[in-house]
Amino acid sequence: MMVKSQSVKRLRQQLVEWRTYLMGKQCALCRLAINNDMPPTSPVCSSCANHLPYSPHLCQSCPTPIAESQQFCGQCLRQPSVIDHLLIPFDYQPPLSHWIPALKFHRQTYLSQWLAHVIAKAVEQKASTEKPDLIIPVPLHPKRLRWRGFNQAQLIAQGVAKQLALPLNTKLVKKIRATAEQTSLNANERNQNMRNAFYVCAQPPARIAIIDDVITTGSTVRELAKQLKKAGCKEVHVWAAARSVAR
Ligand SMILES: [Zn+2]
Ligand SMILES: [Zn+2]
Repeated sequence: MMVKSQSVKRLRQQLVEWRTYLMGKQCALCRLAINNDMPPTSPVCSSCANHLPYSPHLCQSCPTPIAESQQFCGQCLRQPSVIDHLLIPFDYQPPLSHWIPALKFHRQTYLSQWLAHVIAKAVEQKASTEKPDLIIPVPLHPKRLRWRGFNQAQLIAQGVAKQLALPLNTKLVKKIRATAEQTSLNANERNQNMRNAFYVCAQPPARIAIIDDVITTGSTVRELAKQLKKAGCKEVHVWAAARSVAR
């Protein structure tokens, strides 16, 4: 019975999405028609796309804004981070700060596909770095996964893997410790909270890209990168949809 009611719920969700898809060729911001040159999952028209909150030039290893001429922030120069390449197209400002929670709590597949498209485009434009061997989403603890029913980072990761024709592995890393919601914590508490939260189940390949939806201080992905490197990974990329400014 459980399985049945879940699949009915899923089907209903898909119908809602298809309706949005078929009837909603309308910009979510200005309500004008979305032209055909936009990706089919785009929620905005080309003119509104120009005004989305794109992130400023960031440090290559952490979400700190730096001058265009620089590669690393002072902190990462003094103490190199476990993250080798970081890529975050958006700042977590409206409308992204309205859309991403919608993805997190209501499984908006078209939205995750659009975010994946934007990330994949940004990766392709940064052709200077070598492509990773594998893509992994930041895992959720099994308890939270059961409660939510899906992992939003995994939805984005699936889209990115598909668009860049890279393999995806959702089982390489497990979240073994349930952690407090990071949003209620300061930077130090966040680091503490994530310590030993992940377990790498198998030998990782040399280059991995970790996908997340929103990055604040980066403590989650740093801890995950640390464990991957301990297990033998040589280079960690972090690709996330949006950057939220820490309190
Ligand atoms: Zn528009
Ligand atoms: Zn930095």
